[in-house]
Amino acid sequence: MAVSSFGSLDEALRKKLEKLGLFSDLDLVLHLPLRYEDETQLLPISAAIPGNLVQVEGVVVEQEILLRPRRQLVCRISDDSGTLCLRFFSFYASQTVAWSPGTRLRVLGEVRAGFRGAEMVHPKCRVVRDNLPLATTLTPVYPVTAGLPQRTLSRLITQAFARLQQKQLLQEILPQTILSACQLSGFVDSLSLLHCPPAGVPMAALQQRSHPAWQRIKFDELLAQQLSLRCHYHQRHSQRAPALPQQAGLQQKLLAVLPFGLTDAQRKVVAEIGRDLAQPYPMQRLLQGDVGSGKTVVAALAALQAIGNGYQVAVMAPTEILAEQHFRKLSDWLIPLGVGVGWLSGSQKKNQRQLELERTATGAAMLVIGTHALFQETVQFNRLGLVVIDEQHRFGVGQRLALRLKGGGEASIPHQLMMSATPIPRTLSMSYFADLDVSVINQLPPGRSPVVTRLIDDSRRDEIVARIREACLAGRQAYWVCPLIEESEALQLKTAVETCETLSQTFPELSIALIHGRLGSEEKSAIMAQFSQGTVQLLVATTVIEVGVDVPNASLMVIEHAERMGLSQLHQLRGRIGRGSAAGVCVLLYQQPLSEVARKRLQIIFEHGDGFEIARQDLLLRGPGEFLGTRQSGVPLLRFADLEEDADLLEMARNVAEDMLRDYPHEAQRHMQRWLGRKEDYLRA
Ligand code: ADP
Ligand code: MG
Repeated sequence: MAVSSFGSLDEALRKKLEKLGLFSDLDLVLHLPLRYEDETQLLPISAAIPGNLVQVEGVVVEQEILLRPRRQLVCRISDDSGTLCLRFFSFYASQTVAWSPGTRLRVLGEVRAGFRGAEMVHPKCRVVRDNLPLATTLTPVYPVTAGLPQRTLSRLITQAFARLQQKQLLQEILPQTILSACQLSGFVDSLSLLHCPPAGVPMAALQQRSHPAWQRIKFDELLAQQLSLRCHYHQRHSQRAPALPQQAGLQQKLLAVLPFGLTDAQRKVVAEIGRDLAQPYPMQRLLQGDVGSGKTVVAALAALQAIGNGYQVAVMAPTEILAEQHFRKLSDWLIPLGVGVGWLSGSQKKNQRQLELERTATGAAMLVIGTHALFQETVQFNRLGLVVIDEQHRFGVGQRLALRLKGGGEASIPHQLMMSATPIPRTLSMSYFADLDVSVINQLPPGRSPVVTRLIDDSRRDEIVARIREACLAGRQAYWVCPLIEESEALQLKTAVETCETLSQTFPELSIALIHGRLGSEEKSAIMAQFSQGTVQLLVATTVIEVGVDVPNASLMVIEHAERMGLSQLHQLRGRIGRGSAAGVCVLLYQQPLSEVARKRLQIIFEHGDGFEIARQDLLLRGPGEFLGTRQSGVPLLRFADLEEDADLLEMARNVAEDMLRDYPHEAQRHMQRWLGRKEDYLRA
């Protein structure tokens, strides 16, 4: 197709463009300036304010090559108002000739106060003969790559623009009604303004990307993303899944024996999930709830709905510890109701695994819990109706797909419930997660006391010791979290083993255990069981306890080298305490010096307890690319729009996307083609 190639270009140039991600004329035209230079005006030398980028013109009055402190070419130019010193640390011999005294030079650069008056270092420089007219448009500065000068790229963009115009490939796609309703500028006009803004367009509005032309381009980008995600959302409704209507029996029985009643928020999400399961197309629902909000019981109720209809359920967790905890809790709840529960893990003995595989294949196990082991090809289900994925952000897209296919291939796809305690900020869930339905548990069970967070410099760790002793002797339990197990001098992290030994000497009166990722799963589960029962008072741990571990009596946590951990990791860890009635205290030990980001992170975790707010701040700190991690590996990130800054545009794009898919499906397709082109395929994963 015409848009997917350049005009004729030599190979070397093509390579350079590809390095910038530019593969077609359209890519070139959508390669927009980072900033602009103003060559439409000339200032008198004396009027140039230090720190500003300005253009001035003067005659070379003096030229010399200095050797100290560094070899450099110095030219002094002057106009009627004053003189300016130009310094070049790299220069050609030909330039010393071209810029000899008497030559008139027009220079653009940042003025600064030098040792001997105003100066510019490496200004952009042109010799003025006769009369050189001033530019009539601002000069764009594009992202470039080595060996590709601005001027070349600029010329290529202009040529590509002309070619596309001529082929009528840049016409307006959006219907007039939408343009007027949203007060959007035209597509071509916006592009052409951004590539060469007429003199007089406010530079600030361009640089800050608030100019209507920028708004239009950002809107288009967001709209393409929304259209694509909503398309997938609608496509899902044409796929088939077993309809699993509400079967009150089993759910009622579980609710009757639970030692607590559901919160309103839990009740609401159980109903949302229940409605989805009853549909003949696959649910893909993301259940978000802060740590400790009670997602497990919601998953159990959803499972019972599927099981009540004679379908199996797979529950998958990212770590062995967490999977096992689910196994214990769900067995306690469901086996008394007559539901067979199965267990599959990577570390299980061969014949036990064989047995579990059989129970899974025959349907003797209606609920099967496990880790990644659930994905493996040898695992066959009898009738899989629902897949529950805990802490979904830990799994890649591929793994989730693998499990989905176990439901019986294309003919019927199991429903999917993804759970996440890493709350996804609203703008993110509106954009990158727009293909999913989202339920939120926005309430913690009653009787929780908020966790108090303390930031303490590592040099004052002795003060904490007294606290731990006091708490443990009063019958409570504590975690001591170390970031690494193996000695790594480079990072100067204390090893868990050493810490455990030291702590055992410090607290001879306490029962202390160590848990870390290198232990066998039987050892791990034995230790966790002892901690749950209270026979272990102080648990020294690596971050293996980060996700989902639930021991209500543990109310104290010390985290060493907190400055090295990410925000969501800290929030998850802290979520392990404050689950019972005793007020939780979380001590974050940090070691100086702190990097700027580390300081900021600690401040955020100290100031905020609400997971959504922490996630929002995290997004601001890291940007969506890093925040999203594996899940989004294939999804094109936004180039122009900024989720937080352009939240209004995002909201508008979302509404317009729905309208367009309904009323203007053809235009919707063309818009996606224009903006996503090749990238569209990735999104299908
Ligand atoms: P998370 O959402 O982090 O997975 P869990 O499901 O592990 O949270 O629940 C945390 C704790 O709260 C568990 O001990 C669970 O039994 C308890 N819990 C869940 N729902 C309620 C409720 N409505 N009232 C009281 N306790 C509850
Ligand atoms: Mg959980």
